[in-house]
Amino acid sequence: MEIKAKIHSVETCGTVDGPGIRYVIFFKGCPLRCVYCHNPDTWSDNKGKDISLLELFSDIKSYKDFMRFSQGGVTVTGGEPLVQSDFIYELFKLCKKNDIHTAIDTSGNIFNEKVKKVLEFTDLVLLDIKAFSDSIFKSITGSSIKNTLMFAEWLNEKDIDTWIRFVFVPTVNDDFNDIKEMAGYIQKLKNVSRVEVLPFHKMGEYKWEELNLKYTLKDVLPPTKDDIESVKKIFIDKGLNVV
Ligand code: SF4
Repeated sequence: MEIKAKIHSVETCGTVDGPGIRYVIFFKGCPLRCVYCHNPDTWSDNKGKDISLLELFSDIKSYKDFMRFSQGGVTVTGGEPLVQSDFIYELFKLCKKNDIHTAIDTSGNIFNEKVKKVLEFTDLVLLDIKAFSDSIFKSITGSSIKNTLMFAEWLNEKDIDTWIRFVFVPTVNDDFNDIKEMAGYIQKLKNVSRVEVLPFHKMGEYKWEELNLKYTLKDVLPPTKDDIESVKKIFIDKGLNVV
């Protein structure tokens, strides 16, 4: 039987989730419940669109020239794309056979043998680290940071190009000592080519309301430019390439 995925949507000309122009696939499902999530509509695996591997890949192939000229490729995101690692394994195998660059945007929360197989066909990982201390991480996501760190160390061991993403959220993960510890940890990973410091925003707040979920960050303001520059400096001071 042909393998199928449950997806939320696709973006055919993405420019922020990896290098070049990218075909971005938003997968349904996520085991975390981040308080600042801007895609809570991807959490559950129902109400998505079922798509077969061949249907998806034939659409991807129609954008191959855009990807090639811009040195872009395919990015899987979500939700947590690795909830559907069997499908992504097959998709990435096809991409590599067709010389298409592959990237995963992940929290690193799912780390198992299947995921290791997917990583054999992955060119770039965009790894979200939401905080460094386990207690802050848990207060944001509801889960431990343990798997994310094991994931990061595996990427380092296998020398898979990695961009770390840190979303800075005032009052939630703004403990500068914790961020310094995170920066020190990342500095030791030889495979990290970039750190992205992203400001918290509330563009997904309306989705929480539509889903009848309680949004606890109503009164939290996005960080100022100065805040973001101060956070970036912590990573820059560790010799990391920060954007
Ligand atoms: S891991 Fe991503 S998709 Fe899942 S809850 Fe957190 S921010 Fe949302």
